[in-house]
Amino acid sequence: MIKVTVWNEFVQENDESWPERRDQMREVHPNGIHETLKAILEEDEELQVRTVTMDMPECGLTQDVLNDTDVLVWWAHVAHDRVPWEIAERVNDHVLRGMGFIALHSAHPSRPLQRLLGTSGSLKWREGDFCRVWNTCPTHPITEGIPEYFELEEEEMYGEFFDIPKPDDVVFISWFSGGEVFRSGCTWTRGYGKIFYFQPGHETNRSYYNPYVRKILKNAVHWANPTKRIEKIEFPFAEVSPEKKRMESKKNNQ
Ligand code: ZN
Repeated sequence: MIKVTVWNEFVQENDESWPERRDQMREVHPNGIHETLKAILEEDEELQVRTVTMDMPECGLTQDVLNDTDVLVWWAHVAHDRVPWEIAERVNDHVLRGMGFIALHSAHPSRPLQRLLGTSGSLKWREGDFCRVWNTCPTHPITEGIPEYFELEEEEMYGEFFDIPKPDDVVFISWFSGGEVFRSGCTWTRGYGKIFYFQPGHETNRSYYNPYVRKILKNAVHWANPTKRIEKIEFPFAEVSPEKKRMESKKNNQ
């Protein structure tokens, strides 16, 4: 089993100050976007999924939860600054030690992703566009079962320049009807952890009901599942050099 934790800021679904957006979002995600994502991932019998939200103690991300998480999925939009940097640092530490991290849609400037990538994640945007998602890496595990391209009738335009470090792989590039293009699926590694950013998932659009988007999310969790997990970050100073160890054991055996 792969243990997945879906994190949602869970703000706009309850936002009294913007009732129109709240109602639109509730229409698409009746139990919150985290429950939509959980239902998608639970279609895969190898995934064991829990949800946590920002209103929980320690934003739902206690050491116990993170120690028990193979892949953390992050959806956020309006409350990035309400996640303490301490929590972003904690997520960063777990990723460096092997935990997978998947940042969705408006998580592009979220604190954990900024901490991991070291860039702002800024981009251009416009709501209510048409989107064609091109598969630019057909050999990648994340694109297994995904055709050359697929289309989303309504999705938010995200455009370049997207302020990210050069990805290990650009898995998808999206084209929007305004002519903009965007690196909409990107991978990185940091330490022992694998990171995937995926653009579709605007709060009032139905992208998470698209079968290809659903497949990509499940593929991404499998890809990001740790191949190795370490207890703590060790720095390979000279005293642990393999050559020194070899010389010592030679001496001891004399
Ligand atoms: Zn959006």
